[in-house]
Amino acid sequence: MAFLLSDSSMCLDLLHVADQMKVLDREMDYHHADVMDGHYCPIITLSPDLGKALCSVSEKPVEVHLMVEKPAQWLEIFAKAGASMLTMHAETINTNAFRLIRQVRSLGCKVGIAINPATPFEYVSQYIDEIDRLVLMAVDVGYSGQAMVPQVVKKIRQAADYKKAHGLSYEIMVDGCCNNQTYELYGRAGAEVLVMGSGLFGLDPDISKAIEIMRAQQAQACKKLAQAE
Ligand code: MG
Repeated sequence: MAFLLSDSSMCLDLLHVADQMKVLDREMDYHHADVMDGHYCPIITLSPDLGKALCSVSEKPVEVHLMVEKPAQWLEIFAKAGASMLTMHAETINTNAFRLIRQVRSLGCKVGIAINPATPFEYVSQYIDEIDRLVLMAVDVGYSGQAMVPQVVKKIRQAADYKKAHGLSYEIMVDGCCNNQTYELYGRAGAEVLVMGSGLFGLDPDISKAIEIMRAQQAQACKKLAQAE
């Protein structure tokens, strides 16, 4: 097995975004752009302009992760900025989930749904067959570099079992604490796509070297997983 990888825009070196994106666009499968509005999350990240700039230099699909109080306000803006997938938090769309999922599709984007560590897997069961990616948060929204909430592991397994049992095709992504300490744990539970934040960017200031180290770590972890099967 091998994970699909998405880099986390939150960890980009803002003084070297263009250089880093060039390398990441070649090496990663996707990009993951975190949008925080200062209400749903304590801080603010990624304006639509920066989102547009990232999309303009990306050949790979850009997922915009909307950690915002009112995702409806942002869907069209980030679709126009060039996002391939719009990921909304299940906790923010309960009164209009089906309407917003359809709206994302009508904007020509794929549908991602994220759930916080405190939200159970069952919370999304009514529309999980309509989405392209389930993003399981392994940390509370807001900051990179937090300690992992272990409850996520059970949810990865639930998502993998449910997907198999119902013949569904949503990707299972983990956002938070994807690093050398968790690859085996996440992989064994059924994680397919990892959001690489400090587990990648923290390995070396030179992004090419950081990717090389990350690949070696993941190869080791995947080898152990294959042996255990
Ligand atoms: Mg994210």
